[in-house]
Amino acid sequence: MRNSLQREEQYSAPMQTLRDLWQRGAAALGSCALCAAWPAPPICTDCLATFGTAVPRCPRCALPLAPGLAFCTDCATLSCPVLNQCAARVDYAYPWNGLIGQLKFHQRPGWAHVLGPMLVNDPSILEMVSNCDVWTPVPLTPSRLAARGYNQSWELLKAAHQHLHGQTPLWPQLLTRSDTRTIQHHLPRANRLTNPHLRFGVPSHLVRHIHKRHVLVVDDVMTTGATLNAAAQALLAAGASRVSGLVFARTPATPRHL
Ligand SMILES: [Zn+2]
Ligand SMILES: [Zn+2]
Repeated sequence: MRNSLQREEQYSAPMQTLRDLWQRGAAALGSCALCAAWPAPPICTDCLATFGTAVPRCPRCALPLAPGLAFCTDCATLSCPVLNQCAARVDYAYPWNGLIGQLKFHQRPGWAHVLGPMLVNDPSILEMVSNCDVWTPVPLTPSRLAARGYNQSWELLKAAHQHLHGQTPLWPQLLTRSDTRTIQHHLPRANRLTNPHLRFGVPSHLVRHIHKRHVLVVDDVMTTGATLNAAAQALLAAGASRVSGLVFARTPATPRHL
């Protein structure tokens, strides 16, 4: 028995180390997570070029834009959008939906160290974030944060900020989010747009940090825009002068919205 335990300790330590490395960052591994090319960073340059090339997007809803248009047809008639500007790095599609799933649902916060720098690796996004005075993530509800152990949007924001050697103040708890009994990604689109359970607020002791400031709100995925808009409304109501939204992935338009 003693020998068996000793063997278990001997082998479990390296296995634990490997698991830790994987969970802290896919950068510890030597092959591309998408095509298995070796040696390569977590995502090789060929895969980044194939799947991660930035495309022109509507500055109000972050959907891809047809050539020559300044706004998509839906946003062109919006007279008073809540968000000053909205940007997304990629479509929520293969392979990014799978990697965000790893980051979000499979306890792999290390993917933020890959996706965070990529989030700001685009000239138009860089210009947008450089015009913001304060950065904050879309918060999780307290119960979701307790279950997951981390906020994937905060992990993305931190990694992006670190990559830029940013000096802009970061506020992880600028927004509060009430618990809901419904879960956004299980709701149909119509319900998400009118979900009365979406509740954001700004703690009174933090209001002075956003007074007349341009706030950047970061999220991992944008589907309808209801979450970002609700967060922006809370910040504007608390005194922010403008709010811009940045997400890693934008759900593509459904055919009826094209
Ligand atoms: Zn690859
Ligand atoms: Zn638009």
